[in-house]
Amino acid sequence: MAGTTSEKATGEDRTAALKRERDRYVALAFCWADLLFELDHNLTVVFAAGPTRLFTGLAECEVKGRPFADLVAPADTKLVDDLIDLAGTHGRVDHRLVRLCGRNGRLMTMTMAGYMLERSRGHFYLALRNATAEEKAAAAAYDRDAETGLYDEQGFAELAAQRIRAATERGEDATVSLMELPDLAAVMQRLGPRAQGRLRGALGAALRASSTGGDTAVQVGEGRYGLVHGADADVAVVKEELVAVTRQFDPQGEGAGMESATITMGDISGVSEEDLARGLLHTLNEFRTSTDETFNLHSLSTRMDELVGRAVDKVSTFRGIIANAAFDVALQPIVDVKRGTIHHFEALCRFHENAAESPYQTITFAESTGMIHEFDLAMVRKVLDWLWHMPANRQKYRAAVNVSGHSVGVEAYVTALHQLLDDNPWAQGRLLFEITESARMSDLEQANTFIKGLRGRGYEVCLDDFGAGAASFQYLSSLDVDVVKLDGSAVHNALRADKGRAFLSALTELCRRLGVETIAEMIDDGRGLRFVRDCGVDYVQGFLFGRPSRRVEDFSPLPHANLFEGRR
Ligand code: C2E
Ligand code: MG
Ligand code: MG
Repeated sequence: MAGTTSEKATGEDRTAALKRERDRYVALAFCWADLLFELDHNLTVVFAAGPTRLFTGLAECEVKGRPFADLVAPADTKLVDDLIDLAGTHGRVDHRLVRLCGRNGRLMTMTMAGYMLERSRGHFYLALRNATAEEKAAAAAYDRDAETGLYDEQGFAELAAQRIRAATERGEDATVSLMELPDLAAVMQRLGPRAQGRLRGALGAALRASSTGGDTAVQVGEGRYGLVHGADADVAVVKEELVAVTRQFDPQGEGAGMESATITMGDISGVSEEDLARGLLHTLNEFRTSTDETFNLHSLSTRMDELVGRAVDKVSTFRGIIANAAFDVALQPIVDVKRGTIHHFEALCRFHENAAESPYQTITFAESTGMIHEFDLAMVRKVLDWLWHMPANRQKYRAAVNVSGHSVGVEAYVTALHQLLDDNPWAQGRLLFEITESARMSDLEQANTFIKGLRGRGYEVCLDDFGAGAASFQYLSSLDVDVVKLDGSAVHNALRADKGRAFLSALTELCRRLGVETIAEMIDDGRGLRFVRDCGVDYVQGFLFGRPSRRVEDFSPLPHANLFEGRR
């Protein structure tokens, strides 16, 4: 039925008013943006304005009618989805870095804001601005994990420190939240490798979407995350979303529960950006290496200024430890698997201040705060001292010293180490080096130059922690080492897995062909010893032959030497 004239006029007025509002809105957006899109509730582009050809390779008319996701770089589609969701929940999201597929597949880094107007029937408006050189440089300066799109800890801490500083200068809130999904490992076990990757990617995207700038989120070990966010991201909502993501992937539909702690800034007006980054790194480091006994989200100090203070104190304590050589060398034998003889000892540091404990936390702290190379050099001095001061040692014993993957790229360390070795030529053949993967090496060419420098001087080099990280095989093919040490967790996995025996045998065979010897770590019983021996491993190390000890006599006679009887 046709309406009355006055009804029609009201309807037209309303349409005109809405249109005016949209135009005003579009005009406003353009004060700021290069591109504006209106998406309908299916996230299809219904309106586009601005130089779309420049940023998407398509003319305005070609963009219309396409799903917006088609214009976005594949790695960022989940992020954009999540951002639009957030805009739906909160009405808007501000300034998040996303990448569009530009002309000829070139990635265009843009800053995106999204709005949902209540009166526009679930339509979204997205305004995108070409990111400034500074924003692009900040985003490109740090490595991102391919699977999650998240920065590594160093990158995250530096970027987060910049963003926190900028936010507090603008008088805005900046908050850091640490989150943990304790049951994620159980969910992962129920998934195949591809689904595991997709789940990690989805969690990474959900975190980025809620973070300040769309990228200040970090993964610190499986199921543990850090995130910088402002007042527009409600932690409870982020938590719910992460839990929902795990539930969606979990074939049992259970998903993973979630714990979190939030750190407010406190008074950071006098704190430098560098110290802020250091405080963040320190906290992440504690979080990553924590067990229930050592660190607990509920007991976490909730003020950033306190955390920074603690990190700064810890840095100066550690400098004191290096300067006073306040640590000892504990030894653990590496045993020939066939003959039961000791080939050499691994030298493991023990700090005086917590002499009974594993140094692992302190080592990773030193790595993350850029001090490990100073310590690694001090340790070489200590081990040379040990070899020199026990006259019998010089003939009888060999020792392997650990070098962090961080140190191999530090010129001052490499030069000082070469000098030390050149000053002590007697140590040739007595000292070996193990490069640990506790830090992933980013520059393999540089690592190889380091290895060549040592081998050229007559020192054998071992690749430690093989199998502990995804990069192991890449390392094996790129680095010219003498020995590979299989990480304890990889050995234990092989022991448990159906195809473990076949896999480990194939690996030792590959190493043999490459002329690389193998050591299996964490052998703590006779079964493990027999298993790795059958798989063709050359040497073993583990509690079966004693825990690391400062007294080399503890290994003479070698505990459980009877296991080798009849083989010598
Ligand atoms: P890593 O180099 O892989 O050293 C082997 C670790 O495994 C040692 O832990 C050792 O005590 C432990 N281990 C040996 N046998 C067994 C076993 O049967 N079962 C179990 N569960 N563990 C076993 P530790 O001494 O706590 O050292 C931990 C890590 O700290 C080392 O791992 C290494 O990455 C780092 N580290 C130790 N000393 C130094 C050092 O002087 N410099 C550097 N850069 N890193 C060091
Ligand atoms: Mg080692
Ligand atoms: Mg190891």
